[in-house]
Amino acid sequence: MLAVLETRTIFGGETEAARVIFYLLALATLLLFFWGIYRRIRVYRVGRRPAGWRWLRRATKYDIPDVTARPGVSKSAAVIAANRSITKVKKPVGLAHLLVFWGFIGLFLATSILSLDYDILGNASRIVTGHTYSFFRGPFYLGYNAVFDLAGLLAIIGSVMLALRRWFSREPQLDYTRAEIPEGGYSRSKIVLGDQVFMVGLLLILVTGLLIQGLRIDGEGFPSFERWTWLGWLIGKMFASFGVGAASARSAHAWLWWVHVGSALAFIAYLPFSKALHILSAPTNLVVSDPANIRRLPAPPEGAAGYATFADFTPKELLAFDSCTKCGRCHYVCPARTAGAPLSPRDFILDLRQWSDRNNQIPLFLDSEDRPTPSGPLAGNGPLAGTVIKERTLWSCTTCMACVEICPVGVEHVPTIVQLRRSLVDRGEMDPTLQSALQNISTQGNSFGKSARMRARWTKGLDIPIPDARKEPVEYLWFLGDFASFDERLVEISRTLAKVLNSAGVSFGILYEDERNAGNDVRRVGEEGLFEMLVESNMRAFEKADFTRIVTTDPHSLNTLRNEYPAFGLDKEVLHYSELLAGLVYRGKVELKPLGRRVTYHDPCYLGRYNRVFDAPRAVIGASGCELLEMPRNRTNSFCCGAGGGRIWMDDSFLEERPSVNRIREAASLGVEYFVVACPKDYAMFSDAVKTAGLEESMKVVDIVELFSEALIGADLVEA
Ligand code: SF4
Ligand code: SF4
Repeated sequence: MLAVLETRTIFGGETEAARVIFYLLALATLLLFFWGIYRRIRVYRVGRRPAGWRWLRRATKYDIPDVTARPGVSKSAAVIAANRSITKVKKPVGLAHLLVFWGFIGLFLATSILSLDYDILGNASRIVTGHTYSFFRGPFYLGYNAVFDLAGLLAIIGSVMLALRRWFSREPQLDYTRAEIPEGGYSRSKIVLGDQVFMVGLLLILVTGLLIQGLRIDGEGFPSFERWTWLGWLIGKMFASFGVGAASARSAHAWLWWVHVGSALAFIAYLPFSKALHILSAPTNLVVSDPANIRRLPAPPEGAAGYATFADFTPKELLAFDSCTKCGRCHYVCPARTAGAPLSPRDFILDLRQWSDRNNQIPLFLDSEDRPTPSGPLAGNGPLAGTVIKERTLWSCTTCMACVEICPVGVEHVPTIVQLRRSLVDRGEMDPTLQSALQNISTQGNSFGKSARMRARWTKGLDIPIPDARKEPVEYLWFLGDFASFDERLVEISRTLAKVLNSAGVSFGILYEDERNAGNDVRRVGEEGLFEMLVESNMRAFEKADFTRIVTTDPHSLNTLRNEYPAFGLDKEVLHYSELLAGLVYRGKVELKPLGRRVTYHDPCYLGRYNRVFDAPRAVIGASGCELLEMPRNRTNSFCCGAGGGRIWMDDSFLEERPSVNRIREAASLGVEYFVVACPKDYAMFSDAVKTAGLEESMKVVDIVELFSEALIGADLVEA
C-alpha cells in the first residue's frame, strides 16, 4: 500500500537566500517576458483591422489546404495538436517537432502544477492557517513523475533529431543564402548563431532537468518509491555506477539545479525577442490564417491603392511575420527562386519582419540580418514597395500559391505581395510589356489587343452551331478566356471542345463579343480599378444571358469567377471543363475507346492548389484509356509553369531557366511521350518549353480535351 508522505522537498538543500534569489530572478524574467509580448501586441494593434475582423471569426474553423483534408476534421485545434501542417510534407521532421511540441507541453504542465502546489497553495495556506498544504505527494506525486519523465524523454528525442538535422543536414531549404544579393552585401551570421542558441538552449534545459532528477534520487539514497520516477531513477543508477556517492550527488545537484533553472529562466526571457517567439506566434497564426484570402484577394486598404506604410498591414499579417520559423520550405518550392529570379518568399517575409521590428524599436536577439550599407529592411526613408522590397522581387511572383500551401505556420505571402504590387501600379512603375497588356485589356477587353468583335472568330467554319447564350437559354455558359479565344495555337483546341460538347449533347453557349478578360491576373498584378471594370462588364454580359451554370476553359478565370465574382453578385456554379468532361463520363453520357498511351499530367496552380480540382482531369485521362505517370511534383506540390500572376505579360529573359522548361525536364525524366495540360496558358507555355528544351521529337503537349476527343470520335491529335 502506498504511503501518503511519498514526495520530495522543493528547494531541497537550498538556503533561504538562494530561494529569495530564485524568486527575484523569476520575477525579472516574467517582467521581461511580458514586456516583450506587450511590445509585440502593441505593434499588431497599429496594424489595420480588416473589415469585420473576418479572420477572427475563423478561429474555430480552420481549413488547412491539404490534399488529404477531410471535411469536418480540419479544425484548427486538431491541426495544431497533430502538427499536421508540419507533418504533411516531411514526416521525420514533423515527427521530431511533434515530440518536442508535446514533450514541452507536458513539461510546462509539470512546472505549472508544481508552482500551483508550492508557490500558490503552499504559501497561501501557510499564511492563512499556519500549515503548509500540498497535494504534491502520495499517488499523485508518483503518477506525476512517471508521466512527466516520459514527456521529458520525448522532448529530448525530438530536440536531438531536430538539432542533428540542423547541424548535419545539407537540405537546400536550410541554406540562408539570399537569391538576389551578392555575397558580402549582407550577413546572416547572427541568424545562424541564433538557430544554434535556440537548439542548444532547448537541449540544455531538458538534459539538465533529467540529470538533476538522477542526482537528487542518488543523493536521497534511492528511496524505493522513486522507481516511479523511472527515467530519473535510471540516470541516478548510472551516476551511482560511475561511483558518484550520495554526498557528491547532493553537491552536484545543487550546482546543476542553478544551471537548469538559470537556462530555463533565460529561455523564457529570450522568447519574445528571438526565433523562439514562434512557439507562441505560430499556433496563433495557424488559428487565424485563412486560405480563402489567396483565392479571394482582400481589397486594398481604405482610401489607398495598396500598401504604402506600416499601418497598412493587418494585425494578422504582422503576426504572420513573427510566426515564420525560417524553415525555408517556401524558399525551396518557389518557382521564381528556382528560375533564378530575385524572389524568395522566405526572405520576403523576413525582410518585412526586420523592417517592422526596426521601425517599432523591438530589440532582437540573434535574429536579424546585417548589411554593410543600409538597404532593404534596414533602409531609411523611401517607399515600402521599391525600397524595403525591390520592384523586381515583387514582379517576380507568379502567385502560384506554392509558398502558402507548404508553409507550416500559415503565412499567406500572396495577398501581401499583391498589396505591394498595387502601390507600384498606382505609381505607374511596371514593365512596359505589362503596361501594354493592361492597356489592351482596358481598351479592348483582352490582353491580345484584338477587337472585341474578333473574340468569337474561332467559331468560323465550324460545321456545328455555337449558340449565343444572350439569345437563347443554355445550361452551360462557356467562358473561354483570352488565350482560348485568340491564341492561334489554342483556337483549334476550343473548336475541339465545342465539337465534343456538341456530340455529347451538352447544352452550351458563349457570350460572343460581350465576354471580357475575367480579371484574375489583372487583379493579381495589382490593377484593382481595371479588375472592377472587367467584373462589371462581364456581370452586365451575364445578365443578358440565360444560363444555369458557367463552364470555363481557363483555370485563372475559374478562380476569379468562382471565388471573387460572388462578391459582385454572381450566384452561379462555376466549373472547369475537365469537371464537365469527367461528369459526362461519370454519368455514362459518352463512350470512350482506350488510347493506350503513357502520359503525364500537369496540375495548373489555379485549378489544383487554388481550387482543389485534382481528380477530374485524372478521371478524364483514365477514361481515355491512358496510363498516367505522375511527376514527382504533383497535385498540391505541382510546379508552376511561370505564367501566373501576370508573369505571362512580363519579360522573363533574365531567368536562368524558365519554370516551364524545368517542368518539362521533370516530365521527360519519366520517359513519357505526352504532356497533358488542362489550361490554355499551360499549353502555350509548355509548347514553347518543349522547343527550348530540344524535346520536340520525344514530347508532345496535348490538352485534356484532345485526348478525350480522340477517344470519343477517333479524331487525330491537333498538331502544336
Ligand atoms: S506564390 Fe509562387 S512565385 Fe510567388 S512567392 Fe509564392 S512560391 Fe514564389
Ligand atoms: S514563411 Fe513559412 S514556409 Fe517560409 S520560411 Fe517561414 S515558416 Fe517556412
